[in-house]
Amino acid sequence: MVPDVEGAMTQRHPDACQVLFDAAEKAGANCVRGVEDVSVVTSESFQCVTFKVEGSVHEVRCRLVVAADGRQSVIRRQLGIELHTDEPHHLFSGLLVEDADGFPADLQVIGSTDEVHYLVLPQGSGRIRLYLGFPFSDRHRYTGEVGVRNFLDAFDTPSFPYAKEIVNSTPISPHATYANEDAWVDEPFAQGVVFIGDAAGWNDPINGQGLSITLRDVRIISELLTSMSDWSPSAFSEYATERRVRMSNLRFAARVASKLNNEFGPEAVERRVRAKTRMAEDPMLGLAQAVIMIGPEHAPEGLLGANTWEALFA
Ligand SMILES: Cc1cc2nc3c(=O)[nH]c(=O)nc-3n(C[C@H](O)[C@H](O)[C@H](O)COP(=O)(O)OP(=O)(O)OC[C@H]3O[C@@H](n4cnc5c(N)ncnc54)[C@H](O)[C@@H]3O)c2cc1C
Repeated sequence: MVPDVEGAMTQRHPDACQVLFDAAEKAGANCVRGVEDVSVVTSESFQCVTFKVEGSVHEVRCRLVVAADGRQSVIRRQLGIELHTDEPHHLFSGLLVEDADGFPADLQVIGSTDEVHYLVLPQGSGRIRLYLGFPFSDRHRYTGEVGVRNFLDAFDTPSFPYAKEIVNSTPISPHATYANEDAWVDEPFAQGVVFIGDAAGWNDPINGQGLSITLRDVRIISELLTSMSDWSPSAFSEYATERRVRMSNLRFAARVASKLNNEFGPEAVERRVRAKTRMAEDPMLGLAQAVIMIGPEHAPEGLLGANTWEALFA
């Protein structure tokens, strides 16, 4: 459902899941793996969750369901909650490779060539997580049978150091390609259910914010639940407002990243150089990207909008 490695902090997704799973058990939660056929029926008095584990069906009744079932959320679909997405700008593809021992373990490389945007995130012991952004028109080049070979060869470009290490490395993961769009729901809650993480809508993976978004959702919802006895839908309106602003700031930052790094040809290069110079000269413009580092909730109100876009790209 998600790539097996997360980017910038080089934290593997399965490791992060295991740490959280162990912490939940230690805190007293009843944790179950291998769950299938999840179904949720809600009412004003209690919620009924049924699921199958190892062939047998279980039923749990609770006051509130915190739905964290990812992008394709079955619970979101069962409750008929509409998911909105913006127009995708390009495709984004990831691959984990090994046998790249000559590549420095402490060097992350991000750049654009005439055809692709690339990210190289070493994981240690010769393993590297590679990402490519490319236009929809090139999807046949980087997907399917020839896709992996072309994917690796895309790093063979003069602007990229250690190309040989990548070209000769060994792919060890599925080669997954995603459209880069953001997604959101109008309200991340319903009677008896609150949505967190990707189930509530996600940000373009280029920002590498998925785990941060989800953990902040967890913190906000746990603080709400432990501080109030009212768990009715209205209790989550503040969370919905905070999340809307936070995600909209991240969406803006991702659109800037798309325009800067995932458009190709001489005009795009000029635009990239011009916008990056403007960002370096004016720290407020720089926030259009730096907001993913300082936290999207800290962006000055109104900064990430049409005026900043104009100042960067006009
Ligand atoms: C290409 C790409 C690169 C990314 N890179 C980064 C990155 O560098 N850094 C970062 O922080 N984030 C990154 N992300 C995003 C990140 O992976 C997600 O935002 C994050 O995993 C969301 O966590 P979650 O718990 O909401 O959902 P998930 O991690 O998707 O977890 C959902 C869980 O629910 C389970 N589930 C779903 N449906 C059912 C069902 N019907 N029955 C039983 N179980 C079910 C799934 O098996 C899964 O275990 C990336 C995403 C993509 C697509």
